[in-house]
Amino acid sequence: MTIKQALIRATEILTANNIEDPRLEAEILLRHILKTGRVQLYLDFDQEISPEQDEKFWGLIKRRLNGEPTAYITGHREFYGLDFYVDPSVLIPRPESELLVEKALELAQNRPVSTIAEVGTGCGAIAISLALNRPQTKIYATDTSAAALKVALFNCQKHGVANRICLLAGDMLEPLPEPVDLIVANLPYVRESELPQISTLNFEPSLALNGGADGLEKIRRLGTQISGKLCPGGSLLLEIGQKQRKAVTTFWHNLFPSAEIEVTADLSGIDRVVSLTLPLNPF
Ligand code: GLN
Repeated sequence: MTIKQALIRATEILTANNIEDPRLEAEILLRHILKTGRVQLYLDFDQEISPEQDEKFWGLIKRRLNGEPTAYITGHREFYGLDFYVDPSVLIPRPESELLVEKALELAQNRPVSTIAEVGTGCGAIAISLALNRPQTKIYATDTSAAALKVALFNCQKHGVANRICLLAGDMLEPLPEPVDLIVANLPYVRESELPQISTLNFEPSLALNGGADGLEKIRRLGTQISGKLCPGGSLLLEIGQKQRKAVTTFWHNLFPSAEIEVTADLSGIDRVVSLTLPLNPF
């Protein structure tokens, strides 16, 4: 079978099984087996693949049909133009979370930000993207999961920022040794009743998705920890889910009545990032 034939066949099978982006997924899995780039794959379109490669490829297609995400099968996921190692101990970074990075970089350009903390870092994608774009900033990244912190450390080393990101084990802001200028958090915010709708539920850690009955349990817990962790004039950036804008902004407004609160929608028009900025002078 040629590369072209294998791709056509795999795309048909993935399509028939309602897998999103079937052609792209087939290419990624075949490239993983052939250890080749996209351009080379196309240049070699009419080359035969060996029976051994063929067998391996169909093995991966079977795993994908079984619901396993491509990112776990290949161990790679791109985020903010960077390649991250992922495994089932961490959530697979979502494209919409790039908005958190964009917003954080925008904020850091408009006011002095010398320290940032990322809460629930998982594979480290957000903290590392920030570190690479803010070479002078000190970054803390926390997670309760020891397995996730191992993955984050691996990615910090891969991107040469292990000495710039301080990884801390613990619950949200608790392990932070000092107040910071900016807190960035993509906490679990999926409502418990909606968890079964997440197609990767059987593979991704539910700890990273489950936000309790209304999805906001973790966000509220962050509120109980924030005192003394955010500098005057500092900002908090939170990722939220669909229809959570009102509840989340009301919660933070009640906690910090004098803070400035802003909501930004993602590319699909869904309110995605809540940003809160404390006044420089609390009085
Ligand atoms: N956006 C993710 C999803 O719907 C949820 C991420 C989260 O809970 N922080 O799959």
